[in-house]
Amino acid sequence: MKNKYAIGIDIGGTNIRAAIVSNKGEIIQKIKEKSSGDIISIIYKIIGNLFSEKVAGIGFSLAGLIDYQKGSVLVSPNLPSVEGEDFVNKLGARFNVPVIIENDANAAAYGELCSGAGRNFSNFVLLTLGTGIGGGIIYNKKLMNVSAEIGHMSINAEGKKCLCGNYGCLESYASATAIISSAIDFLENGRNSILKERNNNYKNITAEEIFKAAKEGDLLSIDVFKNAGKFLGIGISNIINILSPEAVILTGGLIGAWNIYVKEAITVASERAFKHLFKRTEIIKSELMDDAGIIGAAGLVFNR
Ligand SMILES: [Zn+2]
Repeated sequence: MKNKYAIGIDIGGTNIRAAIVSNKGEIIQKIKEKSSGDIISIIYKIIGNLFSEKVAGIGFSLAGLIDYQKGSVLVSPNLPSVEGEDFVNKLGARFNVPVIIENDANAAAYGELCSGAGRNFSNFVLLTLGTGIGGGIIYNKKLMNVSAEIGHMSINAEGKKCLCGNYGCLESYASATAIISSAIDFLENGRNSILKERNNNYKNITAEEIFKAAKEGDLLSIDVFKNAGKFLGIGISNIINILSPEAVILTGGLIGAWNIYVKEAITVASERAFKHLFKRTEIIKSELMDDAGIIGAAGLVFNR
């Protein structure tokens, strides 16, 4: 392909981040806009600024279920305004290049394969650990074209009802949202914690505040992170038993709590997964972090 650049665009609930990316997965130029107001016209503006005749195509990454046949978004909880919008085909017609759209965790997995922590593996699973939990699966150096809603695997048959309609989803026990709600539950039940002393209105507490308290030795906060880590470990052991990947790559805001939350997850996964399979699986951090989705979305342009 003579054009060696693609535009990757990551549409998040807060920001739209976009870049010109080389066919080797390097970011050449990056821009960021707030994702408020008319998102479709912001997208057009961004592409207008980045597009040149060297661009081989445009790749989008966003949270939600994608209709690959139509090239549109079926469901996106953070961005309902793009649901059903036909911007992919319209942009393709306007700029006369291929335009693809992919789920954000899938795009991030592909980005790590192109130029991140997954570049030396053929088979790995990426987990995004933040407000929710997402997943992407790389098999034989290719992105599996499946929804990979790993955050919605049931890990507790009698568990909490999830927004997806299922019960006991991993996301309801191991995400930042779950960590916050579990801390609030403990506080409401009268457990002592420096969180209560610091926050008059502890219902607005953030995962960062809980993590800070955990690092200072606050027992409630440590328990909350460890408990979430235990459930993450159960999820990871299921992934290892089903897919026996060479690596599980972790990304998202919660990996800042590696020493409590992820360490606990690794311990639990080592106890629960098939021992031979666990030994062959590296559990490692993302290298690209927030840039993985952009690089992956652009990389998919060259792949298709
Ligand atoms: Zn669910």
